[in-house]
Amino acid sequence: MSTTSDRRKIGEIRPSQLLYTFGVGATVELPNLSVMVMGLDDWPVEQGTTEISEPRLLKAVQGELGPQVAKLLTPPLTSESTGVASSPFDDTANVGVPVAPFPRWKVCPHPHCRLLAPIQSGLFELKLDPYRKDRSRYVHRICKKPGKPPTVVPARFLVACENGHLDDFPWVEFVHRGKTDCRYELRLYELGASGEVADIQVECVKCNKTRRMSDAFSDEGRDELSQCRGRQPHLRKYDEDPCKGKQRAILLGASNSWFPIPLSVLSIPTSSDKLAQLIEMNWAELEECESGRDVKMKWRLLKGLATHTEDQIWEAVTKRKCSSAQEEDEFVDVRRPEWEVFSNPDSSRNSRNFKLRVVDSPKPYRHLLKKVVLAERLREVRSLIGFTRIESPGEYTELGDFPKDQRVPLSRTVPKWVPTSEIRGEGVFLQFSEHSIEMWVKKTKEREGEFFEAHRRWRLNRGLNTTLLARQVSALARS
Ligand SMILES: [Zn+2]
Ligand SMILES: [Zn+2]
Ligand SMILES: [Zn+2]
Repeated sequence: MSTTSDRRKIGEIRPSQLLYTFGVGATVELPNLSVMVMGLDDWPVEQGTTEISEPRLLKAVQGELGPQVAKLLTPPLTSESTGVASSPFDDTANVGVPVAPFPRWKVCPHPHCRLLAPIQSGLFELKLDPYRKDRSRYVHRICKKPGKPPTVVPARFLVACENGHLDDFPWVEFVHRGKTDCRYELRLYELGASGEVADIQVECVKCNKTRRMSDAFSDEGRDELSQCRGRQPHLRKYDEDPCKGKQRAILLGASNSWFPIPLSVLSIPTSSDKLAQLIEMNWAELEECESGRDVKMKWRLLKGLATHTEDQIWEAVTKRKCSSAQEEDEFVDVRRPEWEVFSNPDSSRNSRNFKLRVVDSPKPYRHLLKKVVLAERLREVRSLIGFTRIESPGEYTELGDFPKDQRVPLSRTVPKWVPTSEIRGEGVFLQFSEHSIEMWVKKTKEREGEFFEAHRRWRLNRGLNTTLLARQVSALARS
């Protein structure tokens, strides 16, 4: 089949990738196995996660997922990225986040065998590699192939719906065209070398029924497959309420099988006071402190505070606690504080994570640009708050516009933390002159009428319908 698989071992995935390319609910292809990244309930939070302090982001996440979210945590680090050797039998030896084999249906690749069966049939045997967990595989032990049992591959067909459900392909019902009593035994043959879906055929050798896989993508197949079972494999459960979504066939690794829903902020200084900035940076540690003595106990974990006394720190912590209690009920506008800091750069606010420098606008663009600010040091913090399948939240301009019931939760129970990563980099901030933008909008409005009139004349001259055109234009304008 012509799907490009991204084969890699889990140890090679960086924390930021874990959130985005291979986050909770996504499928990952290991060298011999396709797996699903499991929900937060299964993550070993106690092993090697680090709390990230970014109060504005935490507040925004709470606004979306509820006030019980208490922490932003980095994904568990793998032994390879920490450089600490661990026992090969330790579950975290190579896999930093929990995964489970998915899809459950596998195919024996031997051309004379091609057995298609689920893992729970017991026909495939798990071969655990104690030294490289990510190289573990299933083999077809009693295969027609003489010699070493072949390593089986995932059946690359799945079904998914726009409400975020994902399920194994209903192989048995599909080949028998409905429910059956047949004590089936399935094979999946590739009839041509093209790898095209039309050349793949599923066959039941017990009753000799066959069906081409292209049927799954035809109108008839679409109707047959449309009933969704509401499965959420990353949470190991089926939704209790029947799903009204339209289920359809997709291929393993298809780009529409998983879209992350992230929330992100740029770390900005909330104060020009250096001590307050350091308190902010260490807030994950300092928040729990109840006295100057507690601060002392945390001394070794604090960064950059060595020149301050514990009393000074405790005083600043108290101040910070009072102000956050006041902010509690305020509406979270993530972008406005960023806009304010970037559009009024103040070098006294520069810090380890944040450095702005104003430069002159390039001469030819001076009438368009009000300000050019180089962000020479920036830290972006991103959290994953959910995901979707089939439909991308990126098609909506505001996160709030995306239908909430299509957002798939990351855990079975309400989450107490969300996976988060930080990225350090740089950027350029351009502030356009509002006057120039207004002028441009005005000019294009005038042109719009001229263009439309010219196009109408063009259609009229060719004897084409112009009322239809008017309707299309007004529909376009509405969308
Ligand atoms: Zn076989
Ligand atoms: Zn059959
Ligand atoms: Zn569904």
